Amino acid sequence: MRLLLVEDHPPLAEALAAGLARGGFAVDCAGSAAEARRSAAGAAYDLVVLDIGLPDGSGLALLAEWRRGDGPPVLLLTARGELHDRVAGLDTGADDYLVKPVEIPELLARCRAVLRRPGARTGPALSEGPLMLDTATRNATLHGERLPLARREIGVLGQLLRRSGRVVPRAQLEQAVYGFDEVVGPNALEAAVSRLRKVLEAADAPLTVVTVRGVGWMLAPAGEAGKRP
Ligand code: CA
Repeated sequence: MRLLLVEDHPPLAEALAAGLARGGFAVDCAGSAAEARRSAAGAAYDLVVLDIGLPDGSGLALLAEWRRGDGPPVLLLTARGELHDRVAGLDTGADDYLVKPVEIPELLARCRAVLRRPGARTGPALSEGPLMLDTATRNATLHGERLPLARREIGVLGQLLRRSGRVVPRAQLEQAVYGFDEVVGPNALEAAVSRLRKVLEAADAPLTVVTVRGVGWMLAPAGEAGKRP
């Protein structure tokens, strides 16, 4: 799940981004309305966590812009006592709001709840045969048994399941799995794919991850892939 955090107070932004990343989100940060507008125009986010009080305008104006188009779900952050803002936010089309100070576990729970709603950009569950990924809780299961996958591996699996049977290009996987600011080694994606493949194999899954050299990766039946050179 790729999330945009719009918060202008650096220490708070840092703490929230760290909490969201631990909760399994690939997080990009924006410190102003202008920055948020640029980020949202350049990437598809599953969710935006949006502070109302921004240095160059109100988060509500940004929300109104997004609601005129096909914008992402938005969770508003408001200061204590700003009842008027909260009401205006919900009227403008915010999916939920949280009053500061924000507790990370509650923020994560609200984010998951917004993503579970019908009409959210991403469906609640992706599956292919007995392999299933709950996109809100980020649990991957095979025949109902949980697979031991880390955050990036879950991100890779989600993209592969969305386009099951088709090749997912490297750039698309990278964009889905990492935040803009995340520093990753040249082989980080290969490492995540390889680990995902091993977990699927160890669980005796009927599916595996096939490398299409120079292009990307795809999910394919395990037997068929085994016959490839
Ligand atoms: Ca603020």
